[in-house]
Amino acid sequence: MLPSLAFCNDIDFADWSAYREVHRLLREEYGFQTEDSFWLFDPGGSEMALFKGSLEEKGPRHDDLLEEIARGRLAILHGGGNFSRSNTQVRPSRRLIGEGLVYLRERAKVPQIWTNHGDEGDIQNIGGDAPTYHQGDDPSSNAYILDLLLQGGVQFFWTDHHASDAFAFSANGTAGRPLLVRERTRAGHDITCFFRYRGALPKAPDAQTLSLQLTQRNLDQLVEAGGATVVYQHWCVHRDADGRPRRASSPVFPSESMKALKRLMDYRDRRIVRVMPLTQLLLECSATAGGHQHVR
Ligand SMILES: [Zn+2]
Repeated sequence: MLPSLAFCNDIDFADWSAYREVHRLLREEYGFQTEDSFWLFDPGGSEMALFKGSLEEKGPRHDDLLEEIARGRLAILHGGGNFSRSNTQVRPSRRLIGEGLVYLRERAKVPQIWTNHGDEGDIQNIGGDAPTYHQGDDPSSNAYILDLLLQGGVQFFWTDHHASDAFAFSANGTAGRPLLVRERTRAGHDITCFFRYRGALPKAPDAQTLSLQLTQRNLDQLVEAGGATVVYQHWCVHRDADGRPRRASSPVFPSESMKALKRLMDYRDRRIVRVMPLTQLLLECSATAGGHQHVR
């Protein structure tokens, strides 16, 4: 398999127009087909959540999101919802997220990919084999949802301990650090987890630090290793001088980030790196990894 790269973005702070601007740029300026994440619920009313606090309260862009989900453009379930400590009006529960998953299955589709979101307030997050505050895979919790996610068709999980400073991974698990690992949860389910490249940044990566991720050194390393990578991003986030995150203003990508995307496009055009949607990359890695996926 040709060295391959996919983006995995967390939708924090995005609104509909920032989301649209990012994907128009990636598609039209660089020719990158990329997926993105969404929330089922955001009690705070984000435009990137299907619902506010319950199925009775549709989010402001509900119909637009549902179409993007059905078309496979919004293909990553970001924590099921935004239930962070700053967002306490509604608490996550098995009943609430379960209803959301049924709705997705009937009206669009359930994504194949899950990423943990937020902080210790997001108790619905998945802990894998290293749980702390996580309750999404704790069968004794009111926020237990792992069985519902698996029944709904989720196949790949990113939990808090799968952020990496190393860029290149082994796609098939035979040599080097594998992109996919199997982990046993407290519920007894073995789940497939994937790593994301974060980089040694002081804060979680965003539109302003993308250039520190897509360096020539990193891309060359990916080519040499012949592997795969998943780039962790918050591309609808800019930060103020104190590092506090806020919604990215237009233009979303500063010039250094545009240069880095151009660099990646050049590698793609030289046919030494593929840039592909995350679902496709994970499914390909899973198929080639076969029996090489280790339980940690
Ligand atoms: Zn998040």
